[in-house]
Amino acid sequence: MFVAYATSMRIPSYAVTFLLPLLALSQPVSGDELRCLATTGMIGDLVKAVVGDRGSVEVLMSPGVDPHLYQPTRSDLAKVLAADVIFYNGLHLEGRMDEAFARAQESGRSVCAVAEQLPKQSLLHDAEDPEAHDPHVWMDPKSWRMVLFAIRDRFVLLDPDGRAAYEFNTNSYLKNLEALDVYASEVLQSVPAEVRVLVTAHDAFGYFGKRFEFEVIGLQGISTESEASVQDVNRLVNLLVQRKIPAIFVESTVPEKGIRALIEGAKAQGHTVKIGGSLYSDAMGDAGTWSGTYLGMIDHNVTTIARALGGEAPQGGWRATKSSLSPGSSP
Ligand SMILES: [Zn+2]
Repeated sequence: MFVAYATSMRIPSYAVTFLLPLLALSQPVSGDELRCLATTGMIGDLVKAVVGDRGSVEVLMSPGVDPHLYQPTRSDLAKVLAADVIFYNGLHLEGRMDEAFARAQESGRSVCAVAEQLPKQSLLHDAEDPEAHDPHVWMDPKSWRMVLFAIRDRFVLLDPDGRAAYEFNTNSYLKNLEALDVYASEVLQSVPAEVRVLVTAHDAFGYFGKRFEFEVIGLQGISTESEASVQDVNRLVNLLVQRKIPAIFVESTVPEKGIRALIEGAKAQGHTVKIGGSLYSDAMGDAGTWSGTYLGMIDHNVTTIARALGGEAPQGGWRATKSSLSPGSSP
């Protein structure tokens, strides 16, 4: 009935499932609840959605934290060893924590590297190290769906009595994830083909580019551990000028210095490039805000990119369309 209403009102297809519950909130710990630990907010959001009231979820890395450089504290290590189940990205995203996860596994914790559960053929290689894979899987909502399933399967394994709840929670979240993916495809396809180039501070958007047909260029490599060289800056400035790219993007977890150098360089050659906005790459926005959720982070990125590069996206993004359909259901 809702679909019929949506069709008669000419509401875009991505808006149809907006009435579904968005996020399950974590609950306080009780004796038999699963104590879950997630490294990044993006993983934590899926874990909270799937576990619902059968567990509590703690997220190690706060908004704005760069996971590539994250050095665990003594209290983090204690949390890792106290959790029943640990979800981390893997593919060396949390490069300085690998040893702690290995120790947790040896001590009998359930440890799941979520991005490493994806089929190998769906992973991108790191251009600088062909042996390694690009860890930024969350940038493509379709790939992130597989992570949602991996989390569900791990919970079913650990707590078979909760199977029905885990499956229900997963399907509820999945509907929103799929609707967001449809929205993203539609608004990004409206960006003119000749400027479908995404220039960002570091190479976090490879999966985004593959999924939405954008050429993606990061000033730094896949990890933020190495700095961009003068040659890198000059090469990118020339590209911006030649292709007449109107906007480039800063990232919330990476200093703006390099991106500013590109803008100055292009200006010296007579081409004006603006900062198209700040994107969430390796961490979500502040807790309690829309961009502090996985869905909100992707909505923000997609809408910001589409609007800055001359595409058509509703002001306020996917969420604004949702609120107009269903006041009160916004998270
Ligand atoms: Zn990164």
